[in-house]
Amino acid sequence: MDSIEKLISQLPNNCPQKEALRLAIQKTSANTIRGFPIKKVNDWDRLKIHVAKELFFADLVKYESKIRSVCISLKPNSYRTYLKHMYEIESTDNIACQLCHEEFLNFEGPQLLERLPKEINPLHLCLCQNCKREYQIIRSNSKKMEEITDSIKQLNQNDISSAKEHVDIQIDQNKTLWFTQRHIAEIQEILNLIE
Ligand SMILES: [Zn+2]
Repeated sequence: MDSIEKLISQLPNNCPQKEALRLAIQKTSANTIRGFPIKKVNDWDRLKIHVAKELFFADLVKYESKIRSVCISLKPNSYRTYLKHMYEIESTDNIACQLCHEEFLNFEGPQLLERLPKEINPLHLCLCQNCKREYQIIRSNSKKMEEITDSIKQLNQNDISSAKEHVDIQIDQNKTLWFTQRHIAEIQEILNLIE
């Protein structure tokens, strides 16, 4: 990317496309994040009802799949829409990667857990391609995953609501997953309900 930026910088200042090219490069390259998306929990009771309904629907989809032998998820892209809504950086098309905390135009939505008990949107993470690969390695470590799910379950409403920007779940000394308040609250509710 550096060399492209160098080329653009060599264009004469009166070149009409110079600024547009510079902005386009800025937009598509990984950048230090301009502001992590804020999605607060406005109403905890409503969130709980919403998650319970989603879980109920997931059951119906699974049941239907047994009859028709179709894929469990009838809407394979719905978790992508969910993640984009949750992690899109305001006034850009970019999303925030939950693991490296940089912004990207493209994102992956790996499952939070190795095996999903239900196909439900919040049980996916919004990650860049590199972090997806990194997370798949983390996810195959069942002991580590137990620690991660335990730390999610142990959060209380105040821990989540009082987080200034993001709610942090430490993976190891150097890695932390950042969640929006609403995303982690929904994950926590699902983990508690499916136990
Ligand atoms: Zn990343």
